[in-house]
Amino acid sequence: MLDRHARNITYLRLSVTDLCSLRCRYCMPAGGVSKRGRDEICSLEELVEITRAAVDCGVRKVRLTGGEPLVRRGILEICRGVAAMKEVEELCLTTNALALPQLAEPLKEAGVNRLNVSLDTLRPDRYAYMTRGGRLKEVFQGLEAAANAGFTGTKLNVVLMKGFNDDEISDFVDISRLYPLEVRFIELMPIGEGAHAQFLPAETVLESHPQLLPLEGSGVARRYRLPGGRGAVGLIEPMSRCFCPQCDRVRVTAEGKLKPCLHSNQEIPLRGLHGESLRQAIREGITAKPERHRMNETGHSDAGRNMHQIGG
Ligand code: SAM
Ligand code: SF4
Repeated sequence: MLDRHARNITYLRLSVTDLCSLRCRYCMPAGGVSKRGRDEICSLEELVEITRAAVDCGVRKVRLTGGEPLVRRGILEICRGVAAMKEVEELCLTTNALALPQLAEPLKEAGVNRLNVSLDTLRPDRYAYMTRGGRLKEVFQGLEAAANAGFTGTKLNVVLMKGFNDDEISDFVDISRLYPLEVRFIELMPIGEGAHAQFLPAETVLESHPQLLPLEGSGVARRYRLPGGRGAVGLIEPMSRCFCPQCDRVRVTAEGKLKPCLHSNQEIPLRGLHGESLRQAIREGITAKPERHRMNETGHSDAGRNMHQIGG
């Protein structure tokens, strides 16, 4: 379905929980989040029903996210429910990978097509610091489990932060030479806790690696590869190269609120709606999608939430 700026909205990012097994400093508050009552977040059935309605409104790609989607009990049921919708061309999931050793195979069987794994450093001490206690080894075990389960086209999400991982850019680029993964450098957005970390433009990657060869872009990413490399390098630049004119997505939080734009505080409650009234609310949300974010002018996001409460 077209929004009022003639963008075709075909991509739903569905947050299935705001809980997480980690507490990354730029995403979650230090104290973590307390578990909320069952009635405060959508049931599995509600999440599938909302997705069905979004698909009826033109969505063709679904990404499950969070918080950490793999800590949601019933995640496989949600995956099966979404994968069963024949109009859905791609079902993806963004994860910190910690639960992949147990879940990679069942996720594959449940119909998940592709994974994005978040990893901002290759150094165990830094990983423990940034995630407030995570063990890097477990991410590698998760990546290995994903490959063994038959997942291909896995992307590594690396949020660039000045003074934290700028000296690891070459190591990450090198991963794309050795492994068939796409390493995606993502610019930090000043949203929630993210406003306290140090921004680094993704262009830095190109400046320090002039040997990168351009590939065809995909979605909102500029893409490159190393000569002879097995994988690719992607740049996601919400701050330096605003991609709002190409934005094709809407988001739904675990509480069942439709967010037409990540950076707007506009939220449309979907819980309790069914059938045509649910579809109508989604259509209204799509129509109301703002033209673009204003973070470069204001220096902050108007999301009104941390990333773990929306889903990246
Ligand atoms: N727990 C899962 C994970 O970490 O992959 C999924 C949810 S997490 C919120 C999704 C993505 O958002 C992660 O890649 C994370 O690095 C990214 N993210 C979180 N806060 C961000 C920020 N302020 N700016 C840019 N990316 C951010
Ligand atoms: Fe959890 Fe992902 Fe946020 Fe890290 S980035 S705290 S893994 S939701």
